[in-house]
Amino acid sequence: MIRLRCPTGCAGRLQRPFARRAEPVRCPNCRAWLAAPAGVEDGSLVDAVLLAAPGAPLVTAAPGRRLGWLLVAAVVLALLAVAGVKILW
Ligand SMILES: [Zn+2]
Repeated sequence: MIRLRCPTGCAGRLQRPFARRAEPVRCPNCRAWLAAPAGVEDGSLVDAVLLAAPGAPLVTAAPGRRLGWLLVAAVVLALLAVAGVKILW
């Protein structure tokens, strides 16, 4: 069993079976996605690695796909900005 400290500064603590240390897990306090750092030893208390901030979805896609979604978000934001300008005028 390993014990993880939430790295967001909240008081969240959780325990994980050593065999499942690589699986993403949610902080029971702030709902951030966490994982145990690589090379953690069984029975230790460590700061978890932050995978997604509280409220943010866990992104498991490859970096290339993440970039694609960023592009989509940028286009949507640009369209919204154009629509906003049209409404103002
Ligand atoms: Zn937390």
